[in-house]
Amino acid sequence: MDPIIKKVTVKSVITKSNLPVCDYAVNPYVGCTHACRYCYASFMKRFTNHIEPWGEFLDVKYWPEISHPERYAGKEIFIGSVTDPYLPQEEIYRRTRALLEQLQGSGAKINIATKSDLILRDIDLLKTFPGLRIAWSINTLDESFKCDMDNAVSIERRLAAMDQFHKSGICTVCFISPIFPEITDVKAIIERVKKQCNFIWLENLNLRGSYKAVIFDYIRQKHPDLLSLYKNIYSDGDHSYWRRLDMEIRSHAAEIGLRYVTNDDSIRNSLDDLPVIVNFFYHDQIKKNAKPHATL
Ligand code: SF4
Repeated sequence: MDPIIKKVTVKSVITKSNLPVCDYAVNPYVGCTHACRYCYASFMKRFTNHIEPWGEFLDVKYWPEISHPERYAGKEIFIGSVTDPYLPQEEIYRRTRALLEQLQGSGAKINIATKSDLILRDIDLLKTFPGLRIAWSINTLDESFKCDMDNAVSIERRLAAMDQFHKSGICTVCFISPIFPEITDVKAIIERVKKQCNFIWLENLNLRGSYKAVIFDYIRQKHPDLLSLYKNIYSDGDHSYWRRLDMEIRSHAAEIGLRYVTNDDSIRNSLDDLPVIVNFFYHDQIKKNAKPHATL
């Protein structure tokens, strides 16, 4: 089903952000046609008067030219905190491209998280930004699980785009998020991406929103053997699974010579040969100092 698309005029597009990872957030679109079943951003519906299901609407934002873009010099700007800036519709409307053109030369530090390879279109423009960092969300190598979870491009296409950016010397991140207990093979993903990214971020699946029931239905149908584990974690609040996984990945990282940290405050960019693994599991409960990152 085609999404309902509407053009909207907004007074400004850049907003101060409370997210600990950035100073400002920008969302060139309202809604997200990737329609991930675990999307935390679906809460946005409440604020935008949309009655359509999440993933079935998209507002395309038009804003006045950004005045004095140089005031963002050195500031961290996160493009796409509650949408993907490289949705398929970006090919037509080019609002993310327009945003980058308006910020070009400002000295802003751009952070983008995407599940798309359309970003390759803008690689030359993006390269002109200092401290650029691009993350691809990849929580499986199994294309059929991916198709069960989102409408975005294949994992292989995301990996190919990441590789191309990495080869161009741009700081790249493989964001293993959300990690589905016993479904996401974290070690296999690390093995697959370790030569083509600078960071590997780990984030556990959270089920706080209305999508909890959706994910439980999925587990019941496709992985009934995992139902009791999911109930333990998400209904009884047992976090021991994440502690075990934390230890397992930590020792795997040591075996294969990768650095493993739980707080990336001091590591904004890394262009080392090998990626740094950053753990964002239950930052408030397991790792008191770790920083959260908005899940894409
Ligand atoms: S999780 Fe991210 S990519 Fe998926 S629907 Fe939500 S905003 Fe879009």
